[in-house]
Amino acid sequence: MAISLTLPTIQNWSCHNCGGCCRQHAIEVTEEERQRILSQGWTANDGTPSGNALFERHGGPPWAKRYQLAHQADGACVFLDERGLCRIHAKFGEAAKPLACRIYPYAFHPAGKKVTVSLRFSCPSVVANLGRSMNHNADEIKQLARDVVPEGYERTLPPALSANERLDWPDLLRVVDAINATLATTDVPITIKLQRALFWLSLVQQSRFDKLSGARLTEFLDIIRQAAVEEIQPSSDSPTPLGRMQFRMLTAQYARKDTATDLAAGWRGRWKLFRAATRFARGTGNIPPLQSVFREVPFESLEQPFGFPAESEELWTRYFRVKVAGLHFCGPAYYGVPLVEGFQSLALIFPATMWIARWLAASQSRVQLTHENISQALAISDHHHGYSPIFGSFGFRRRVHTLEQMGEIPKLIRWYSL
Ligand code: SF4
Repeated sequence: MAISLTLPTIQNWSCHNCGGCCRQHAIEVTEEERQRILSQGWTANDGTPSGNALFERHGGPPWAKRYQLAHQADGACVFLDERGLCRIHAKFGEAAKPLACRIYPYAFHPAGKKVTVSLRFSCPSVVANLGRSMNHNADEIKQLARDVVPEGYERTLPPALSANERLDWPDLLRVVDAINATLATTDVPITIKLQRALFWLSLVQQSRFDKLSGARLTEFLDIIRQAAVEEIQPSSDSPTPLGRMQFRMLTAQYARKDTATDLAAGWRGRWKLFRAATRFARGTGNIPPLQSVFREVPFESLEQPFGFPAESEELWTRYFRVKVAGLHFCGPAYYGVPLVEGFQSLALIFPATMWIARWLAASQSRVQLTHENISQALAISDHHHGYSPIFGSFGFRRRVHTLEQMGEIPKLIRWYSL
């Protein structure tokens, strides 16, 4: 099957064997992959368990068993060795690994007659833009696309534009291109670019599109994008107490780390999470450390300006452009939500990540952010975005909606960039 791909050419990537993905993710395997791994004959001599102990059953009814790779006591994949390398890869080569491992950190999403490619920023090499250009990786990406993109992908319906409007693929991609163009501007900081996009998308949300298509739609988008340039000025508005409370609850979800070990903790683990959620809602006293990288510091200590390193502008612009062009924020890639809502949710990852970055800095007794704090925080928050089921839940979506209706999203973006 010949697949026409749109590559995120502003991004570089090669695997640097950090093993991070093998410590964070649950790797689901198909029955065919399970049988293949069983036939590889792993034993204690290889440093792994053998037979069925290589897998854990999860989800689904007894007649539709699903399996994932088992984990070591620290949550790492059962095949990860002490040097941080994959034992399957070392013994049988790249192609012998489960498909989920080979695809990471790429993500493939149908976009009309093409397939657009995005990347997961939970990988530190993606965040740091390390490795070969996407054009260099094109052959490898094409091979992965052949393995993962289903036949008939061209018939996939486009994501809804808003709760009430749907466009066909060419028109929806015109809106996506317009967001990308807003983000690609080089004369204003990312905070202003995000506010501009949010502003004109709110106009899109209120518009009817039954007579707007093709060149007329492009003209309309140009006009409202220009209106956003004139309307959005640097402001000094601060988030309200209610907005801050909703935001803390949302950010707590980004700051969590749900390894297999955490999930196996059952009711004890859930009770711990419930207690942490209550403290995030109150927002007083110390922040409960949700991962080992965080220390308990007062909530209040993160509300002072921590600065914004100049080099983080490039990272943020690249992040949002890769996610937008890769359709990694709406439709099938993001819990089926419409494009406008998906972008509001994506924009909130900026203040959430900056809050987490402040927490990392404060955990090291600093009141100044470094680019490394922001990079690490982005790897933490993007791990969940579009992948943790809670982000697609009614409660999470209602929280994003509430923040949008209250006009809090631009204020949060500004506040946590100071
Ligand atoms: S199978 Fe190999 S690549 Fe996949 S998660 Fe395990 S150690 Fe990592």
